[in-house]
Amino acid sequence: MSKKSILVVEDEEDIQQLVSYNLVKAGFDVDCADTGEQALQHIKGKIPDLILLDLMLPGIDGSEVCRSLRLGKETHDIPIIMLTARGEEDDIVAGLELGADDYITKPFSPTVLISRIKAVLRRKVTGVSELKQDSDDIISIHDLVIDPGRHEVKVGGEPVVLTLTEFGILEFLAKRPGWAFSRQQIIDAVRGYEYIVTPRAIDVQIFSLRKKLGEIGGKIETVRGVGYRMQDF
Ligand code: CA
Repeated sequence: MSKKSILVVEDEEDIQQLVSYNLVKAGFDVDCADTGEQALQHIKGKIPDLILLDLMLPGIDGSEVCRSLRLGKETHDIPIIMLTARGEEDDIVAGLELGADDYITKPFSPTVLISRIKAVLRRKVTGVSELKQDSDDIISIHDLVIDPGRHEVKVGGEPVVLTLTEFGILEFLAKRPGWAFSRQQIIDAVRGYEYIVTPRAIDVQIFSLRKKLGEIGGKIETVRGVGYRMQDF
């Protein structure tokens, strides 16, 4: 199997070096960019398997980079892990709202970083291998068609671009319409058990999903004291 390539976007030299050293040691193919401009330029020439994106960058900052990647045809589904120096919830929430797949707060241990990267990459691989097993498992509910194999969602025939995490949550809820799930159950279903993600992060993902799905988004109901469910009719 060929090495997975990771683009590290980080303006602080120390952190960039530390991160790339550990990634290379863990068997990844690593490229670095010091600025958002450099990152976007690099991606035009080579699509990485994953991007580690610092939020605070000079010039085009991390959130701008994330936004523009999510809008690009070739780049919308590149997994992105945000690096944030500030642990404030607002930054994390902003990052997830922009479509980052995960976030890591600095300072972080190399071990945690690697395991998060592997988990995000694994989720992506799972999506692909499900293509073979579940290619007929297209979920059709309300005006919504979810094709897990192709990783596609359509509302009224129009494709909607979702992040991996949003897709996972939508698929999870839509597979069992009428069932209410707790935030923790949703976290476990979409991320695997090694993740520590706040219930608040799930709320943000749901918020973003509802917005992207338009009217159909209203079918994702908040169940007070429990969590969320997809209406069954
Ligand atoms: Ca920075």
